[in-house]
Amino acid sequence: PDRSASAIRQQFLDFFAENDHTIVPSASIVPGGDSTLLFTNAGMNQFKDVFLGTGTRDYSRAADTQKCLRVSGKHNDLDEVGHDTYHHTFFEMLGNWSFGDYFKREAIRWAWELLVDEWGLEPERLYATVHEGDEALGLEADEEAATLWAEETTIPEAHILYEPSKENFWMMGDTGPCGPCSEVHVDMRTDEERAAVDGKTLVNKDHPKVIEIWNLVFMQYDAQPDGSLKLLDNQHIDTGMGFERIAAVLQGKDSTYDIDLFEPLLQAVADASPRESVRGYNDIDLDDADEVEAVRIALRVIVDHIRAIAFAILDGVTPGNVGRGYVIRRILRRAVRYGYQTLGLREPFLHALLPALTEAMGDAFPDLDEKQGYLENVIRSEEESFLETLGTGLDFFQTVVPYVHQSQKDAKAALESLQGDAQAMHLLTNAYVDHDDRAAIADAFVSTAEAGALAGEVAFLLHDTYGFPIDLTQLMAREEGLTVDMDGYEQLMQRQKERARAASQFGGTGDTDGDWHTVSDGPRSEFVGYDTTHVDDAAI
Ligand code: ATP
Ligand code: MG
Ligand code: MG
Ligand code: MG
Repeated sequence: PDRSASAIRQQFLDFFAENDHTIVPSASIVPGGDSTLLFTNAGMNQFKDVFLGTGTRDYSRAADTQKCLRVSGKHNDLDEVGHDTYHHTFFEMLGNWSFGDYFKREAIRWAWELLVDEWGLEPERLYATVHEGDEALGLEADEEAATLWAEETTIPEAHILYEPSKENFWMMGDTGPCGPCSEVHVDMRTDEERAAVDGKTLVNKDHPKVIEIWNLVFMQYDAQPDGSLKLLDNQHIDTGMGFERIAAVLQGKDSTYDIDLFEPLLQAVADASPRESVRGYNDIDLDDADEVEAVRIALRVIVDHIRAIAFAILDGVTPGNVGRGYVIRRILRRAVRYGYQTLGLREPFLHALLPALTEAMGDAFPDLDEKQGYLENVIRSEEESFLETLGTGLDFFQTVVPYVHQSQKDAKAALESLQGDAQAMHLLTNAYVDHDDRAAIADAFVSTAEAGALAGEVAFLLHDTYGFPIDLTQLMAREEGLTVDMDGYEQLMQRQKERARAASQFGGTGDTDGDWHTVSDGPRSEFVGYDTTHVDDAAI
């Protein structure tokens, strides 16, 4: 059978079409009319109104593949991406739904039929979790689901596991549709790896090769702002299966980044790199294992981020300084920095990945092809503008970071060597605008650095002058084993905001504030995981 990613996507849809589901298109990555959500994070988002009983559809069973972006709010996987083998910011979620039609029994049976009968997965390698109950929520254990797994499938009894709410009570956000769920995990360990820990039951938090592939949510409640659960009028089914993950499983790959879909993309990035040692994702010619991993992380991040960026722009999000546009700009700058620093990519390269992206996904998403030129232009100009300042910003960062390390070990020595470094002192003078005395600057820098923190003044200058989003600076600090003095940074941001406000009052027109936003993304740049509550909602 054809096990290409494209075929797998189609096989999923065909399976549910045969079981009387209406195949619907993916909704936009920008949720329509839902102020609780910045980006679509699950297949069910477009059906939220049906679950809540405020909307209807002319079908009671549906299936689709949904473009998802998990970079904000309750579901934020940005920090995992690149570092583990199965999280993406942008991914496709395959899903099937029942709107007050079938419930747990059919959902479980069909999931099993597709995974085992159609796709041939071994029951021995599958695990199903069920909700263990939750006193605080007033919920009993979901024994019904456990019984159905035993009755409707051939899963080994010992592979039905009870898990707490954190894993097995699914919520779209802090409020809204929710319910207990059953997750299917696949054990991809080799026989040797299995033998080494035999007898241990496993879900994905226990071993990197045991991964969650499918979540069957039994929608029964509407979470209220006070945390209580309101029973819905009807019971619904909402399932979500990671498309890249099931493709990895069926293609026998250890990582979602190894599936056929990413091949042309990874190769395109490797080809663009001027570094001889980076010939391909699986062909990195470096002796140092840490360096190899750093290159692989950069490649994974870049192929992940180009998808997030391209699909967001296709759905109408233009990179910019506010709201969703700023989230996309941050993701783009993150990707550009990985390319620049780790792969030696000093020229715009992201836009040049679009043909490979179209090759990989254009069959399922034809607008990738139709709007390729437009995407290339938008992305290229974003890259160009960041590349104007990226190198200087990185130099600044790299000039001062050694003094943070030194301060941690020996503050006195750090103070002396820093004051003797004309270049570093010159750069810091731009950051510490309130201190005109060099000794005072060095002193302030070192006293923050003693605790392993990069000064807020430095982070602010990187942001304000060189366009480094604060989360990028935090990431760079983390790579150095350091933190950023966020209190100091936020104070400077706050002061800048006040200055701008004052200036706009003196200026007399409301326009000043608007102009100011376009030259500095200041007021929005407090990094809090891209949460909806911290961006300018009016701008969304
Ligand atoms: P995980 O525990 O692995 O983070 P999750 O429990 O957060 O996954 P769900 O909200 O249950 O995920 O989403 C349904 C399915 O979508 C998951 O079973 C998984 O296969 C897939 N999925 C979730 N997050 C990602 C991601 N960041 N990248 C790729 N696939 C994902
Ligand atoms: Mg998750
Ligand atoms: Mg999970
Ligand atoms: Mg889950």
